[in-house]
Order: sequence, then structure tokens, then C-alpha cells
Amino acid sequence: MTETPVRVRAEIDLAALRANVRVLRARAPRAAFMAVVKADAYGHGMVPCAKAAVQAGATWIGTATPQEALALRAAGIGSDDARVMCWLWTPGDPWREAIEADIDLGVSGMWALRELTAAARAAGRTARVQLKIDTGLGRSGCMPADWPELVEACLKAEAEGTVKVTGIWSHYACADEPGHPSIALQSAEFADAVRHAEGAGLRPEVRHIANSPGTLTLPESHYDLVRPGIAMYGLSPSPEVGTSEEFGLRPVMTLRSQLALVKHVPEGLGVSYGHHYVTPEPTTLGLVPVGYGDGLPRHASGTGPVLVAGKQRTAAGRIAMDQFVVDLHGDEPAVGDEAVLFGPGDRGEPTAEDWALAAGTIGYEIVTRIGTRVPRVYVNE
Ligand SMILES: *Cc1c(COP(=O)(O)O)cnc(C)c1O
Repeated sequence: MTETPVRVRAEIDLAALRANVRVLRARAPRAAFMAVVKADAYGHGMVPCAKAAVQAGATWIGTATPQEALALRAAGIGSDDARVMCWLWTPGDPWREAIEADIDLGVSGMWALRELTAAARAAGRTARVQLKIDTGLGRSGCMPADWPELVEACLKAEAEGTVKVTGIWSHYACADEPGHPSIALQSAEFADAVRHAEGAGLRPEVRHIANSPGTLTLPESHYDLVRPGIAMYGLSPSPEVGTSEEFGLRPVMTLRSQLALVKHVPEGLGVSYGHHYVTPEPTTLGLVPVGYGDGLPRHASGTGPVLVAGKQRTAAGRIAMDQFVVDLHGDEPAVGDEAVLFGPGDRGEPTAEDWALAAGTIGYEIVTRIGTRVPRVYVNE
């Protein structure tokens, strides 16, 4: 690190990420590992995280959009070490570029199959296609009633040489709620869809349905491939599933800043926009130069935690675009003293999960929303 950013930075511990991949692989020892790096690797930085995951044994990399998948391929990821797959297509997306880049294409419906077979014909290439069945998530995916038609169309396209069906896959709605009745129903629906497709003559290389909670808690969901996202970044999918510590997972991102001002103020001072905090007595205030413009949730105004000079403090009043204030209760740390917003939690700092609780959201959203104004600093590469 030559020039360390001083206002705020997100330290990304790639050794922790690699260790998390190994922990998750040990949970699903017979399955291949797809590292899910959509949304800039949940805010951690897509290319460095994909590379680290491959070093730790990932043989697949998953993204949502084709643009993300193409960016990985342009960075040299996914040649002989790992396959790249993406699954969120919108009409007019770059099918041909993706086919030529040897990306596996997730397909949920007939419109997508029509666009991609046209692109494959134009390119003179066979597209690698992974068919998604909606087993009960009720979001993306082909409904079971429409599945036979999609399978038939794929068999025709395979005969024509435009398509090879390489995978059949699905996604859980409630795998993070252990014992939820939808889990068994979706698992059964998935088994049916695979049976139908294979019975009709498709020969997928991989069948997969397990996200992080599936990988951690549902061995019957592992099939040929698991697709963890959040757990690879060291966060638990939900408190109900367990804590990251219990699974031996280590949070990868630490959000670090420093005090930009420390001042003495009288009793009765209204603090920040709206004066939602009023000092109950003469005190000291510290200014943390990070705000919702950096991705902190404004909903954590009055509740968001931060470790300042060895003590956990709470955002006093509104979190603004660029800064918020903490009541230091008479302590006088120096300007420039460290302020850790979240990290692994083992040095007294809050965790992303603490911020999620403070803002009424999930850890996924806390790390993913850390914005482009916050430089990522990679450690333990
Ligand atoms: C995001 C995503 C995952 C990873 O989910 P986690 O809960 O973060 O493990 C897996 N599969 C698909 C299709 C996804 O969109």
C-alpha cells in the first residue's frame, strides 16, 4: 500500500475469503464450487474476489448480469481454471459476445432461448445453456407447467447444434429459515424437473440449487455444484441459520475511517439535521466523515455503531450524506483516531450484521451498498 486512503476505506481480506471458500467446500465435499460475485462481489470487488476464490478451489464463477460475466472474462478469469455463468438476461443483452466468450447462459424462458439461438447461429457457435426451473421461489425461472415446452425446444436446438444444455438449476426462497416447509417442496420439485429433463434426453453436466444457507445446512441440496455468495464474504445468511463464527466463517470487509473533528459542546445542543439528538449534558462530539453517500444506511441514524478509540459509540442523530456524529461522553480522543464502522468483530468493532440490525436490513445489503466513493484496499493477496 503506497498511498492509503485516509477518509474511509474498505479493507478486503482476501486470506479470509480464501479460508471461507475452503470452509464451504468442506461442507459440500462432493460438489463443485461456484463463487457468486455479482454486484461487484457484494461490494468487495469482483475481479480480486473471483481470483482469490479460484485460488481456493472455485471452479465456477457466477454473476447476475452478462456485463459482469464479460468483465470477468476480459480480466482473464474463466479460461481453463474456471467456468463463468450469468443468469439475469434482459432483451437485447449481448448474447453473441457471451457465447463467444464461452460463458454459460442461464435461461428462464422461451424468449431467451429464441434470442440466444439466433445469436449462436450468427456466431456459428454452440451456446452453453443452463435451464432454470422455478421450483417455488416465485421470481425468475421457468414455471413447471412450461418446463416440458422449454426442454423440448432445447432438445431441438441441441439437434441443430446451436445449444448444449450444460446445467439445470433452481433457487430457494426460504433456505435461510431452517425447517420452512417450502424447502422440502422446492427440493422435490427440483428433483422432478431434473428427472423430466433427463428422461427427455438432456444430459446436463451440473445440477444445482444450493445458495449459502443450502450449502451450510442442507446437504441434500448440494447436487453437483453449490453457489454460495454471502457466506464466502464471511457473513451469515441470517441469524436463524447461525452466526458466521459458528460456521468458522470470517467477515472479509472492514470499513475503516478516522475522526475528522473532536469538539467540546454544551448541554442542549441539537446534533445534525433535524436535531434528533440533543446533548443531555456538556460533552464531547466526534465527527466520522462517512455517510449515506458512501453507502451507510440512513435508516441507522441514531442506532448505527462505530468503534472509536477503543469504545463502541452510536450515531447521534441523522447520518448525513458524507458524515455523522458520535457522542464521546466527555472522552477526548485525538482527531485522526481510528473509527471502525464494521469488521470481523474480534477487536471490539461492530460487524456488518450489527449495522443490519441497526438499519432493519440484512448484512447482504450493508456490504453490497458500500459505494464507489470508498476505495477498496486489498490485504493478504
Ligand atoms: C445471489 C445468488 C446466489 C448466492 O446467494 P447467497 O444467499 O448470497 O449465498 C446463488 N444463486 C443465485 C441464482 C443468486 O442470485
